[in-house]
Amino acid sequence: MRKKIVAGNWKMNTVIAEGVELAKEVVKESASVPADVKLILGAPFVHLTSVAAVVGGTSVALSAQNCADEVKGAYTGEVSAKMLASVPVEYVILGHSERREYYGETNEKLVKKINLALAEKISPIYCVGEKLEEREAGKHFEVVAAQIKEVLFTLTAEQMKNVVIAYEPVWAIGTGKTATSEQAQEIHAFIRATLAEQFGELAQEISILYGGSCKPSNAKELFAQKDIDGGLIGGASLVASDFVAIAKSF
Ligand code: PEP
Repeated sequence: MRKKIVAGNWKMNTVIAEGVELAKEVVKESASVPADVKLILGAPFVHLTSVAAVVGGTSVALSAQNCADEVKGAYTGEVSAKMLASVPVEYVILGHSERREYYGETNEKLVKKINLALAEKISPIYCVGEKLEEREAGKHFEVVAAQIKEVLFTLTAEQMKNVVIAYEPVWAIGTGKTATSEQAQEIHAFIRATLAEQFGELAQEISILYGGSCKPSNAKELFAQKDIDGGLIGGASLVASDFVAIAKSF
């Protein structure tokens, strides 16, 4: 059985007090979410310790939004996987399209980050997805296959068991445009088939989340698809009731 997951990506939003309040509301409302749905809050670095105090001892898990690609040392401004583990943090979002686009996140760097996170027992939520021009040129399968093969195919099966994948078409992120459930299912099935080339049956156990303008009104149809195991939620994760409503859409 694959894990059902609804993960929030708060991005660079909220100050600490607001983030703590949001986490408290999610924890309170999480009682109404089916027990087999994992809720994860992706908070900014400076919020992590405070939000950890809120979610500690509850079923809600904490995620960071990035980590360094080096172990430790003279890397001013960076936050290591070991630091995240000391919070503690259970997940880290890696390879988000905003980081690939604005911060030069390459597949090569992502291999290093994923290995460092896994070494600290932090599960990466590894993001893949094509840009609008790539979809329009019919290159989306090729682009996503490269993001999977160049990064995840370097892992052992033992490592892969602890990775979550998020398919996020870049043209759907924060734009209000959602992929249709057919478009999303088609590429989720493709991702699973690609994983199977390297990892065989294990591909059936990897959770693949959809991200891109997912909201209470469209989550049900998306989550009903065979290969969609939940969502990575940006904008709607900033409103506790919307985030929880999405988690109740399975
Ligand atoms: C995201 O950035 O991961 C995301 C899915 O954002 P939104 O839900 O706002 O489109």
